[in-house]
Amino acid sequence: MSVRVCRLHGQHDLRLETVPEVEPGRGEVLVRIGAGGICGSDLHYFQDGGFGPIRVREPIILGHEAAGTVEALGEGAISLDVGDRVAVNPSRPCGHCRYCEKGSFQHCLTMRFFGSALRFPHEQGLFRDHMVVLASQCVRVSAQTSIAEAACSEPLAVCLHAANRAGELSGAKVLVTGTGPIGALCVAVASYRGAAEIVVTDLHDQPLAVARQMGATEALNVATDPRALERYEADKGYFDMAFECSAAAPAIDAAIRCVRPLGRIVQVGVAGALPVAINALVGKEIALVGSHRFHAEFAEAAALIDSGAIDVKPIITHSFAPEALLEAFRVAGDRAQSVKTQLIFTDA
Ligand SMILES: [Zn+2]
Ligand SMILES: [Zn+2]
Repeated sequence: MSVRVCRLHGQHDLRLETVPEVEPGRGEVLVRIGAGGICGSDLHYFQDGGFGPIRVREPIILGHEAAGTVEALGEGAISLDVGDRVAVNPSRPCGHCRYCEKGSFQHCLTMRFFGSALRFPHEQGLFRDHMVVLASQCVRVSAQTSIAEAACSEPLAVCLHAANRAGELSGAKVLVTGTGPIGALCVAVASYRGAAEIVVTDLHDQPLAVARQMGATEALNVATDPRALERYEADKGYFDMAFECSAAAPAIDAAIRCVRPLGRIVQVGVAGALPVAINALVGKEIALVGSHRFHAEFAEAAALIDSGAIDVKPIITHSFAPEALLEAFRVAGDRAQSVKTQLIFTDA
């Protein structure tokens, strides 16, 4: 038997192909993938052949945001049963390097992360009918959670980690710049953790509308109104913290101007070198902290989705069959209409 895979051969060269089926080995399970979300990194691989120093150097099956149904168990995979619906954690730290030993698994020196071109050979990804994964990479969800929702566990985990980097959110006034999927889910996490106010900015109305559904108290289109944030600059700034999810220089600049002294900016969006107003950062003693991936937050994300504590449905704006792969990537790349676009392999 063969399975379909979405494999990138180079910039703009994405193909739906078939590969032979693989049997699960010791401690592994075979997952029938139901849904897979297209992420910004997948788009960069497709549109630009990579991002920054990370380049696609051999064909790579994309995808790291997926969920599905367990179809076969390998020897010793006793934590799961056939038929279990699971979110698949794409992250596989080694467990014994100096960072893993300290519990900083996201900084593992030999991290294997599905659908990533960081290492060579590349780690193959989850946009495929079947995938063999470690049982320990699967987090079970109940029957009332759709596979499409479960597939949002990975980006939600990214945002839970960002929130852990932010500190106490209860009662906080929060700014979120850039409301793609990560921005929208940062809004949901801030709301869930009791933020008093959540103001969001974006250049498009559609993602702003989604951010409102996720809990934003005010949504500002800074393309049509570039001065919309100015009122938050008074008295050295209004917000206790900001989640910067756009990686755009004007948004980082705005965050520094609108966060109060001793406040915190969590940089979630990724870019190369950008100009930063160091004088304002220093003068207001703002902490600018990075946030990278997640570890324990993955299981927490799946549980929050499964319990209904965080409703991810509003961010899933588009779904496509694998046969419409190129159309799916075109729509996913159009920020004016898409927040999260998913590939649906099997409906379950
Ligand atoms: Zn992602
Ligand atoms: Zn490690």
